[in-house]
Amino acid sequence: MSNEKLANRLAELKHRFINQLPDRMKRLQEALHPPEGEQAPPSAADREASLSTARELTHGLAGSGGTFGFPEISDAARALGDALQEPGGNSGPEVIPPLLEELQTEASKALWRVDSTSRPVPGRPASTTAELGRTVFLIEANQEEASDIRLKLLHFGYRVHAYDTLDAALRDVEDESALALIVDCDFSAGEKLGVQALTERLSTAPRKLPLVFISELDDFDTRLAAVRHGGQAYFTKPVRISELAATLDTLTERVPQAPAKVLIIEDDENVARFYAESLNAAGMTATLLSNPAGLAQALSESKPDLILMDLYLPVCDGIELASLIRQQDAYVSVPIVFLSSETAEEQPLLALKHGADDYLTKPVDPARLISVVRSRARRAGVLREQIDHDSLTGLLNHGKLEERLELELLRARRLGQPLAFAMIDLDHFKSVNDNHGHAAGDHVLRALSRLLEGRLRRTDVAGRYGGEEFAVILTDTDGPSALRILESLREDFAELKHIVDTASFHVTFSCGIADYPAHSNASSLRAAADTALYYAKRRGRNRIELAPSP
Ligand code: GH3
Ligand code: MG
Ligand code: MG
Ligand code: MG
Repeated sequence: MSNEKLANRLAELKHRFINQLPDRMKRLQEALHPPEGEQAPPSAADREASLSTARELTHGLAGSGGTFGFPEISDAARALGDALQEPGGNSGPEVIPPLLEELQTEASKALWRVDSTSRPVPGRPASTTAELGRTVFLIEANQEEASDIRLKLLHFGYRVHAYDTLDAALRDVEDESALALIVDCDFSAGEKLGVQALTERLSTAPRKLPLVFISELDDFDTRLAAVRHGGQAYFTKPVRISELAATLDTLTERVPQAPAKVLIIEDDENVARFYAESLNAAGMTATLLSNPAGLAQALSESKPDLILMDLYLPVCDGIELASLIRQQDAYVSVPIVFLSSETAEEQPLLALKHGADDYLTKPVDPARLISVVRSRARRAGVLREQIDHDSLTGLLNHGKLEERLELELLRARRLGQPLAFAMIDLDHFKSVNDNHGHAAGDHVLRALSRLLEGRLRRTDVAGRYGGEEFAVILTDTDGPSALRILESLREDFAELKHIVDTASFHVTFSCGIADYPAHSNASSLRAAADTALYYAKRRGRNRIELAPSP
């Protein structure tokens, strides 16, 4: 490899390391303490599994941090890893949290160093290591306020890049990842820049972003000026974060998309690894399989969105393998892309006939590989998403949610854990439609779904049960804990001001909860939650009832 190539390669790997850092930190955090302090305590087996995940993650970080120019991450990860090696991970509550915090701080610093050329706001909290993706820019000279907004928006799934000057933000606006711009229009150290001057400069920005203003002022002229100059929303301080988040949801219309999962079946390990790294670097997740004998297991473990397969394999050839995959119901529609060194037309044609969707001729140019795999996987992903998810809210649909309930119940039974099932129904929703229009109703449905997604743990499952009804599965959670979690959601939702055109209004929901093992199967959970919901409605709405044990 030439020096230049090597340098490029390193830069690429470093980029990848940084991209994966937030997710790794998040998983580490989750492994070391479950996100909601209110959940029931985990079982011993669960704790051991979490510990081993945590050890693996710290081991990985310790090994790779230094390589990519972050020795501080390596050191902090190693210190934490060592502490976790203590028998049972019990080096005590006074040891682990500070070490984790230190690692988080180093990770934050690294991310900040790489992802922004702007000066960091002091006191940027370590917990900004949230998922990459839903990024918004905030222009706010007051660093305390910036910090506060950033931390709070994080709970709604937004990653905030704070800038203290407009120029610094504009330099980064080309960054694809920014979805909206929040501007404090009283900024620049007390001296008002004025909405007009701001928007004039924004009009020269390379990309047009949804614009949200925040301000100390509540006078008509300022508000009017803000609207006239392209502001899509206006909030007076102190900003109500749940409202800001709901507005951002609407403006950015974002349904989160999971990275495409690709299974690579290729006997030449070097080649396979090269493909995998190219795809990973492009934001996909690749799994390798070198021996076709492991196919069944690889399929069920990696649940690929797409299969990339060598046409020539030991034991059996790719075409046979493709037919085999197609015989399984779950993989009838997963796209298969063949790799062939064949220059003769014949083999690839044969492959296409046998269920391949496309083929690439070796040596494969990484850019072409990425583009073929991405577009195929995306199309397949969109189809699958459409089938499994509700199109308005992006949540699981009724059928999928039922399926998950059965699965989660099996798991709860196996692990001896509780599980809660909650049904939510919006109150007087018909009158929302009647008074404000169907579009306003849709907006409310989306706002609730975003709140659910933002506030529940990764292991919880939310779905749209139908119409204005939602259901939530809270894993490893008993009834009373579920009640507390949903109570706080209920309060927050009730406070949310929905703004449609010139009208603003509030909506509430009622909820019924039932839990396992008090209710032992899916149908009795559903029936009990439904009855509890009915009582919540009868007892005045905007309230939650927990079903008694039968
Ligand atoms: P309650 O408090 O008793 O639940 O009263 P409600 O008005 O919410 O209940 P009802 O079942 O009478 O009405 C449900 C309404 O939800 C009627 C229907 O128009 C509305 N709805 C169902 N699905 C959608 C949707 O996708 N979008 C919108 N905007 N409205 C919907
Ligand atoms: Mg081969
Ligand atoms: Mg209803
Ligand atoms: Mg209703």
